[in-house]
Amino acid sequence: MPELNDTHGRKHRSLRISVVDKCDLRCTYCMPEDQHFLKREELMTREEILTIARLFVDRYGVSKIRLTGGEPLLRPDAVGIVRDMVALGVSIGLTTNALTLHKHLDGLIDAGLKGINISLDTFDAERFQRITRRDGFDTVWRNIRLALERGLRVKVNMVVMRGVNDDELLRFVELTRDHPVHVRFIEFMPFAGNHWGRERVYTYAEMLGHIGSVHSFEKLSDDPHSTAKAYRVPGWSGTFAVISTVTEPFCGSCDRLRLTAEGKMRNCLFAREESDLLSALRRGEDIAPLIEANVLAKHAMLGGLPQFKPEKQEEVLHDLSERPMVSIGG
Ligand code: SAM
Ligand code: SF4
Repeated sequence: MPELNDTHGRKHRSLRISVVDKCDLRCTYCMPEDQHFLKREELMTREEILTIARLFVDRYGVSKIRLTGGEPLLRPDAVGIVRDMVALGVSIGLTTNALTLHKHLDGLIDAGLKGINISLDTFDAERFQRITRRDGFDTVWRNIRLALERGLRVKVNMVVMRGVNDDELLRFVELTRDHPVHVRFIEFMPFAGNHWGRERVYTYAEMLGHIGSVHSFEKLSDDPHSTAKAYRVPGWSGTFAVISTVTEPFCGSCDRLRLTAEGKMRNCLFAREESDLLSALRRGEDIAPLIEANVLAKHAMLGGLPQFKPEKQEEVLHDLSERPMVSIGG
């Protein structure tokens, strides 16, 4: 079986598929308020998603697929897409804001979903409104508990921003005392239109210092391709982890590829070049050469962006791709 190797010796086995670019929240760090969305005919259909995903799995040995967005559960056929992906026989994940999860939970579990990543950045309802520009804390929190009660493996993603929610780290760690939850603290990353500033990044080192001032914790072993560095307070049910993209990028072990909702392939979260797989597929062409060329063009680090050092901030902001995170698919 041919493999998706790049010129830096990395083998790619993981694919993130954004199934829709719109969202029912408008998180400040992810989506500009005036974001324009794709028209329905521009989105990959359920059949097209399956065709492309199957090629990645059967031809190139991709063994992990995560469905994301935008908000994946806004697609009327979201459960059907999960069912299709499960049938491919690889590991399937879903990343959601959980605002409508209660409506889909039975269907998702029945379709074979075992784990879910849910985004939550605060336990304060007003702050939730400020960060996401919409109401919804009570619903999201209720749905996190519901997912746990139903036996799903739950990861909670929190984007930590200095002066916005860095005072809630311990509250999130506390969640792991009695719940088998995996909390992941994500350093605030720069994307088009999200008002990133290096000084707004609450760093990995600061997070560990903050948590360590109250709890002793132990390091857990990480999967070789994991983006998260995992820890546990000894004896507690859950774990916490840090995704340190800004201060300690993990590009050397990256095995991820991405597909946007309109079928464009990206070899990095920060990539500035894309390969239009969907248009080629709709013209009846073989998309394999496009996939292979896209992987070969992958930069060694951060999609070719300068490193996220404070003194490089202007360069980073200048060199960002035009896509906000909401239309890349995190
Ligand atoms: N709507 C779904 C959700 O919120 O989980 C899926 C899409 S969202 C783009 C995927 C993940 O990207 C979320 O966990 C979100 O917190 C994260 N994310 C978005 N913008 C980010 C940023 N600027 N820095 C770090 N993480 C970000
Ligand atoms: Fe929507 Fe998720 Fe982006 Fe928030 S992080 S705007 S919920 S896509």
